Amino acid sequence: MIKWVLIQMFTILSLFTGCTTMLPHTAAQPIAEKAAVMEESNEHFINSYYIYVEYQKEQSILKCKENITYMNNQGVDVENIVLYLYPNLYRKLSTVPAIGSAEKCYPNGFDPAYIQLTNLKIENMELSKEVLQDYDDFYIDIPLDKPIKENHSAEIEIEFIVKIPVSTTRFGQYKDITQFTYWYPILAAQEEGKWQIRDYSNIGESNYSDVADYNVVIKLPADETIASTGKIISERNSGEGGYKIVDIKAEKVRDFVWVSSPNFIMEEQVINGIKIKNYYTMKNKELGQEADEIGADVIAYFNEVFGKYPYDEFSIVETYLTGGGMEYPQLVTLGQSHYKDMDKLISVIAHEGAHQWWYVTVGNDEHISPWLDEGFANYSTQLYLAHRLGNDDKLDLLMKSYENLESADHPVEASVANFASWKSYNDVIYKKGALILHRLRNIVGDENFFKIMQTYYQRYKYKNAHVIDFLNVVEEISGKEAVEKIFK
Ligand SMILES: [Zn+2]
Repeated sequence: MIKWVLIQMFTILSLFTGCTTMLPHTAAQPIAEKAAVMEESNEHFINSYYIYVEYQKEQSILKCKENITYMNNQGVDVENIVLYLYPNLYRKLSTVPAIGSAEKCYPNGFDPAYIQLTNLKIENMELSKEVLQDYDDFYIDIPLDKPIKENHSAEIEIEFIVKIPVSTTRFGQYKDITQFTYWYPILAAQEEGKWQIRDYSNIGESNYSDVADYNVVIKLPADETIASTGKIISERNSGEGGYKIVDIKAEKVRDFVWVSSPNFIMEEQVINGIKIKNYYTMKNKELGQEADEIGADVIAYFNEVFGKYPYDEFSIVETYLTGGGMEYPQLVTLGQSHYKDMDKLISVIAHEGAHQWWYVTVGNDEHISPWLDEGFANYSTQLYLAHRLGNDDKLDLLMKSYENLESADHPVEASVANFASWKSYNDVIYKKGALILHRLRNIVGDENFFKIMQTYYQRYKYKNAHVIDFLNVVEEISGKEAVEKIFK
């Protein structure tokens, strides 16, 4: 697939028109001044997204304009731009990202969805509309006519339409709730100037991006309530009958998602200065109304043991998601089954809440190193449950049971592409992944274990970490022997 795209993009390059102006043009701006500030304050200098969205609910369509300010902070000149177009994975059932079976996510039969780019311009280069209208891959790799120099920025302007599927997978509308996830063109992550392009696997997750600032302005039917990444800055009538405009800002997040419903009840509480927002519907009121309290307890516990959650809001959102819960920056979605069983509700909020530390704040490549988010989130969940029950005995028993897995010999440092089934993925990445952290804790003792987790969290906050980065922290705090022992 990568090869095919490269060939395709040479064709696109030859078709650039470069003359008509779609949106106001901004010349490449030097960012040296800001880079100097970055060095002084040790702040990560980051990309920013502005997206204007019109949600045409009756047609299940989003009409959007997006401006990305790309910051070349890579230390080398950049000669291409890679954007993921994830909604194109929903064109065919065989590529739909789902938790378990994709068929189960289409109760009314398969409903294809897509993203259609109608304009794309990078500085003074504009892609031809003919090429864009036929483009159906899930990422686009665009060679530039002039490189973006180190410490310079570039403006990317995109217009696009998204068709939303009727589906209970992560992205889609079902009954009264719509999940807008992986819905807009997003820059791939970069490592030392190279864009990180990953094939999509049906097992696990394969998203990988850098943190950025977002301003998303959404025009939608006035009776919809929005839960989202970031913070709602304003909400006003659009001046047209039945529509409103919601202005949302998010800082230093690696993605932006929103969920909407005319039937959400929202309750909130504040813990350690963090607003915990709970969105649920009347049909799940009995357990639904407990979620903010559970969320507050989970966040308070992880604040204490790993380091403070860096955002000021966290939302727990009821959806029709098939197969479990799902983590996004500052927001988690829970499927219907979690509202039928209190233990399940507590576990899923703990697991998805733990991802706010492992994946959202400390980023990782979910395709190459899923252990760093799923194994860590599973072990964090078990730590929280042991804390809630007030003893570690059950945790020890659970970890003992993880030693006898069928796939116990499979290395935990494995990509999602190494697994043939959700079961083996779950056994190795979630369970054995948690077992390795438990083993580490037994080897180095509680004090050093939490020091390792806290140091790793602080050091890679808003960045992307690799397995070696974690092992280096283990070695720094507990010595080389600890590293050697944990995988044995
Ligand atoms: Zn998870």
